[in-house]
Amino acid sequence: MEASLLRQCPLLLPQNRAKTVYEGFISVQGRDFHLRIELPEDLQMKNARLLCSWQLKTILNGYHQIVQQRMQHSPDLMSFLMELKMVLEVALKKKQELCPPPPPPQFYSSLIEEIGILGWDKLVFVDTCLSTIKLKAEDASGRKHLITLKLKAKYPAESPDCFVDFPVPFSVSWTPQVTDQPQRGVRIAVLPITVPLSAGLVVYPCHCSWNFQIWYDTSSLISIYGQFLAALESLKAFWDATDEIDEKTWVLEPEKPTRSATARRIALGNNASIHIEVDPKHPTMLPECCFLGADHVVKPLGIKLSRNIHLWDPENSLLQNLKDVLEIDFPARTNLEKSDFSMDCGICYSYQLDGAIPDQVCDNPQCAQPFHQICLYEWLRGLLTSRQSFNIIFGECPYCSKPITLKMSGRKS
Ligand SMILES: [Zn+2]
Ligand SMILES: [Zn+2]
Repeated sequence: MEASLLRQCPLLLPQNRAKTVYEGFISVQGRDFHLRIELPEDLQMKNARLLCSWQLKTILNGYHQIVQQRMQHSPDLMSFLMELKMVLEVALKKKQELCPPPPPPQFYSSLIEEIGILGWDKLVFVDTCLSTIKLKAEDASGRKHLITLKLKAKYPAESPDCFVDFPVPFSVSWTPQVTDQPQRGVRIAVLPITVPLSAGLVVYPCHCSWNFQIWYDTSSLISIYGQFLAALESLKAFWDATDEIDEKTWVLEPEKPTRSATARRIALGNNASIHIEVDPKHPTMLPECCFLGADHVVKPLGIKLSRNIHLWDPENSLLQNLKDVLEIDFPARTNLEKSDFSMDCGICYSYQLDGAIPDQVCDNPQCAQPFHQICLYEWLRGLLTSRQSFNIIFGECPYCSKPITLKMSGRKS
C-alpha cells in the first residue's frame, strides 16, 4: 500500500513514524491542493480527520457530505484518496462550467474603447464580467429597441451572439480582424451613404448627426450597432403598420404583442374576429386573413373581402386598407361594452385556456355564444345526441340547444 500511495499521491507524506498523520498535496487536473489527514491509532478511515486548505475547501463546497460518506466507507487511506480525487475531478469540472476562465486583457481594453467610440449613453446594461452587453437605439418613429450581445472570450476574433426582437432573422456580417492594429474611428466629413462596402469596411451613420459617418472595420461593436440601425430602418414600415393596429383596434391576440409578433387577431364585434399575418418585408400588402366567428357574421365579410380586393392600395396603411375592403370600422377596445362583446367561453367561463382563446361561436344569431374549441369538443363528445363525421362534430349548443357544428382544426387557438 505504501508504494501505491506514493505513486498516486507522491506529494503526500507521512509526518510521523506511526504513520497516523499525512500532510502534503493531492494533484487533480494539474493543480495541487494542500491537505492534512489525521488517522487514529488503528488507522481506521472512519475515525480520521481531513483538514483542507481554503482553496480545497472552496472547491469541495457542496460536496462535504459525499466526502464524509466516502471517508466512512473507505477501508484504507489509499482507497479514500482515490475517492477524494474523483470527487475533486467532478467538483472542478462543475466549477469551470459555471465560471469559465476570464478572457485576455485585450478583450476588455478593446471593448471599453469601442463602447467609448459608440457612446456610453447607448449602453443600458452590462454584466460584471463584461460578457453580456445591452445597447439601445431609437428608430425614426421614436420606438425604443434593444440589442443584446453575448461576447465570447475570443472577441473580437469571434463574432458575438446577437439577440433582437425582430420579426425577421438578424445576422451580422463579421470579418475577423487580421491585423494587430486595425485602423478605426476615422471620421470623414459629409460622405454619401452610397459609398461601396468594399475592403471590409462599412459606412456607419453616426448617432449624433447624419452629416458624417465613421469608417470602421466589420468586427466591432460599432459595426454591429450600425447593422442594427440599418435593420431598424428596414423594419420601420412594418412597425408603423402594426403599431397603428395595436393603437386603433382591439387586438385579442397576442395580449401584449412583442416587436417580433407578425400575427394579430382583431375584434370585429358580434363575437367575430379577423386573424391576420403581416409580412414584415411587405407590411402594406394584403396579409393572410382568416375570419373567426358565427357564419352569419363572418360569411358576408369574406364576400366583401373578395369583392373589394381591387381596392387594396399598398400606398395606404394596412389598417386603412382593411377598413376599405371589409367596409367596416374596427371597434376600439373602449367602445365595446362588455355585454355586447362577451368573449369568455360559455363552458369554462374563462378567456384564456392553456394559451387558447374562445374561437368557436354558436351560429344562432340570438345566442352567438363563444366557446373554446377543446371545451366544446369535450362537451359534444359527452352528449349521446352528437355525431361525428371525419373531423366535424354535429351536436347541440349548450346554451340555446340549436344545432352546432365543430370543425376540429389543427390550429391551436
Ligand atoms: Zn372554455
Ligand atoms: Zn347557442
